[in-house]
Amino acid sequence: MKNNIIFKFVIMSVLLTIFVTALSLYNLRNAGINAAIEKAEAISEAVKSGLTSHMINNTMNQSDTFINSISNMKNVKNLWLSRTELVSKQYGNNAQSSAPKDDIEREVLQTGKMQYELKDSISKTSMRITIPYNAVAEKGIDCMSCHNVEYGSTLGAVSLELDISDLKQLGIETIYSITMMVLVGIVLIIFLVRKILNPYSNLFNDLSSSLKKSTTGNFQQIKLSHGLSGNEEELAKNYNSIMSIFSDTSNDIDKKLKGFIGHKSSNEETNPLIESREIISNLSNLYQFKKEIELDDTKEEIYQRLLQVFVNQFSLKNFTFVEIDMNKEKQTVVAKVGDMFYCKDTIENTPELCRAARTKHDVVSIDYHSSCPYFTKNDKFYYCTNIEISNKIQLVINFVFDTKNELETLKNDITFIRNYINEAAPSIEVKLLMNALKESAFRDGLTGLYNRKFLDEHSKKIVPYAKRENLNIGVLMLDMDHFKAVNDEYGHDIGDKVLKELSRILEESVRESDIVVRYGGEEFIVLLVGITGVEDSLKVANKIRERVRENEVDVYAGAKLKKTISIGLSMFPEDSNTIEGVMKNADIALYEAKSGGRDKVVRFNEEQISSVDLF
Ligand code: GH3
Ligand code: MG
Ligand code: MG
Repeated sequence: MKNNIIFKFVIMSVLLTIFVTALSLYNLRNAGINAAIEKAEAISEAVKSGLTSHMINNTMNQSDTFINSISNMKNVKNLWLSRTELVSKQYGNNAQSSAPKDDIEREVLQTGKMQYELKDSISKTSMRITIPYNAVAEKGIDCMSCHNVEYGSTLGAVSLELDISDLKQLGIETIYSITMMVLVGIVLIIFLVRKILNPYSNLFNDLSSSLKKSTTGNFQQIKLSHGLSGNEEELAKNYNSIMSIFSDTSNDIDKKLKGFIGHKSSNEETNPLIESREIISNLSNLYQFKKEIELDDTKEEIYQRLLQVFVNQFSLKNFTFVEIDMNKEKQTVVAKVGDMFYCKDTIENTPELCRAARTKHDVVSIDYHSSCPYFTKNDKFYYCTNIEISNKIQLVINFVFDTKNELETLKNDITFIRNYINEAAPSIEVKLLMNALKESAFRDGLTGLYNRKFLDEHSKKIVPYAKRENLNIGVLMLDMDHFKAVNDEYGHDIGDKVLKELSRILEESVRESDIVVRYGGEEFIVLLVGITGVEDSLKVANKIRERVRENEVDVYAGAKLKKTISIGLSMFPEDSNTIEGVMKNADIALYEAKSGGRDKVVRFNEEQISSVDLF
């Protein structure tokens, strides 16, 4: 900055010098010309006076000596006279005075006005000047007394050639001295300017280098140099105190925020302010996420939200969420993006083999040997992380990548990603508990089957669904034959055992989409949802009946018990278009089965209604 100012100053000084020199030369030239003209006029005046007095005294024959003596004056190189045609006619020409020799003389004789011309060469500068000699009548001299001319007309001219080389010399010396003075002045001023500017330029340099460093988060104070005083010193002190506040605050914020949300491991020097801004933006996203999941209704919605964050915020393209129930050894894929789930079989069949689930540590692709032997795709990379949702439920997330770079990016982001999972975990647990609670309210404690409450709730939904989808529902009403006798003979525990066995047979005999309900006591209802027709329903009912009658229940040491079951069947919508109607019909058919001798399947028909004696 300082050198820049000095450079500009030198340029300005040089331009100023050139200007001043040119102006001086111009004025010097004008002054020289004017001085030469004045000198020429004085000489011509002297010549005119001398010649006039020679004319008056009639001593023109001596005028030569006079002219020669004038010619010998300093700087006069040449002097000659010329006369107009009138004078030449009257007196003829002579050695000193003759007809005009050139255009300048002719013009001067014609116009009566002085003319001059500068002749410049490298070595010499001269001025040629021609001054008119006009007829006058004053101071006792009357030209018209001898010359036949009018007053004021031109009689002749005096021409001089003056050497004005002194003038040129003077100009050169002037330029030289001005240049020298300016040079000395510039050196002097540079010295002074350097001395004056030094503290300012040092301050400026310190400020700019400190500001440059502060853009990378390195908030450094500047040195208070000795030359500073007054406002500049105050500026430097204020700057230092701002830098110190910046440095302390940004480090403090950075430390606290990193504690909150973690940070990316990076070797690059980072600006704590920019990093803090990033962390705050992540925190704000995380906060928004937390608020959203609090309002989510189901566990599935939370998983979907988590999935969207992974896709949109972290640009992840292939990952699978697996929920593992350690007690039931049940594992479910709850959400996924992409198709690269290469350890599906391992996790589904034997979740304890999943290293992430077992060790509760992250399992990552590493070079040279496989950290997880069940990830079989050698050309892909993986990262498995695990979160304990509750005591028995774990969530394993398996990320798969095509390139190592993508894996490295995930490693950098994993702290942030885990923050999202950690935030989601308690909400997922709440949903799981609520699901379990709901489930237990709808389940029968003894058999684990759905209870009557569930049937009431579910039937509200299933009828509109079956109507919409044009589905048949076969409704089986089942009742164990002479069950009371079991209790009476073997006690309630064996009675319970028989009921549990029956439940197992029922569940094993129907499809997963069918609904098995313990309606009360030893009465059960099975809804065969989407069954083709009455024939298939009868087949299923008979299959159940036969399995029950063939089933042997251990009652006590070596003794076996066999029981039978009666089943009433009614079809929706064939027999009634309400579920209550169909159930009632199935009950009537069951009554028929009982009264018909038990161990039977009876299909409902209208005639049964009149024959049923309910009381
Ligand atoms: P039927 O062939 O006419 O159906 O004769 P049943 O003896 O099976 O019919 P009944 O309705 O007279 O008897 C049903 C018995 O089931 C009465 C009740 O004590 C018994 N029971 C109901 N719930 C349970 C239960 O949870 N456990 C046990 N052990 N017995 C139960
Ligand atoms: Mg009964
Ligand atoms: Mg019974």
